[in-house]
Amino acid sequence: MSSSGTPHSSISKQDTVRRSEDRTPLLTVRGLHVDYFDKADPVHAVSGVDLDLRRGETLGIVGESGCGKSTLVTAITRLQRPPAVTTAGSVVFHGHDGTESVDVLRLTERQLADLRWENIAVVFQSAMNALNPVLRLGSQFADVLRRHSRLSKREAWERAGELLAMVGIPADRLRSYAHELSGGMRQRATIALALACEPDLVVMDEPTTAVDVVMQRQILRQVSRLKRELGFSVIFITHDLSLLIEIADRIAVMYAGKVVETGPARQLYTDPQHPYTEALRGAFPPLHGPRREITGIPGSPPGLRTLPAGCAFHPRCARRFEPCDKTTPPLLALGAGEAACHLHQTVRGEEDHHARTR
Ligand code: SF4
Repeated sequence: MSSSGTPHSSISKQDTVRRSEDRTPLLTVRGLHVDYFDKADPVHAVSGVDLDLRRGETLGIVGESGCGKSTLVTAITRLQRPPAVTTAGSVVFHGHDGTESVDVLRLTERQLADLRWENIAVVFQSAMNALNPVLRLGSQFADVLRRHSRLSKREAWERAGELLAMVGIPADRLRSYAHELSGGMRQRATIALALACEPDLVVMDEPTTAVDVVMQRQILRQVSRLKRELGFSVIFITHDLSLLIEIADRIAVMYAGKVVETGPARQLYTDPQHPYTEALRGAFPPLHGPRREITGIPGSPPGLRTLPAGCAFHPRCARRFEPCDKTTPPLLALGAGEAACHLHQTVRGEEDHHARTR
């Protein structure tokens, strides 16, 4: 962790180049389980998730509502509230330049307060909820900056103006209240606020859902540019796979609380290995390229209390076959990615069988 109390001046060009070229591990999630304890039996909202994120990388997490992606990131960032409880796993935030690696799940509240903003910042879907309606924008930026640095009030307001300028908002908007800004401007302001303490990781939970398509593209372009310039990593959560192709380096697809496919973004989009990924791809129009028919996904995601036996996607899967409603397919390595689907295990089993009998 960076030490609290260090002034957050603009990052030097040398630091930026070094940061943007660094591809060492930043976050390693292993065996993460999150349960909801609101009734007699716990509901498994996230079941045994592993994720890896490198410095400067954007990891997209995609899936329909209720598949566990927001529960996963609130657990990773320790922002979850009861009845959600992380029951197992580790979330290692890797140290750098002599700082120690830490398991985020084991930090004290005090240590967490240092980690937030300075190392990990979060952008939520609703900018209106993230911004304080009774404080001017400038005061909110100055509060965060002064809590995590030794900037004077005046320096903090100046820095806040620079941060707003980075997302294309004029500095005179520092005197505005959240309700005086357009939806797109509010969302860009929350992104600028997340970058205030130059975090290593920015977690974005459906940051473009509440804005129109034009603003959506503008925000994605800005995030990509800022990421290139400042070298931070991103976890970007969305239900729209076609959006991720614009911004993500790697993608993890979630269904019923589990990761069912991972892979390099373009490869996963053009050649999905899991039928659910394929169905997700057909459910949204591409932002670029030729138009194609939107097919949708039959049925709806299962309730987590009543998960189907075997592969949880089997009641909706056009390619289900004999083992799918009995045995849960494990997530197996497949080229540069992974997939949890019996189709590949059958292929692999046949290949093994041929290899043994040759
Ligand atoms: Fe479809 Fe079977 Fe693969 Fe599940 S395991 S996605 S039901 S083919």
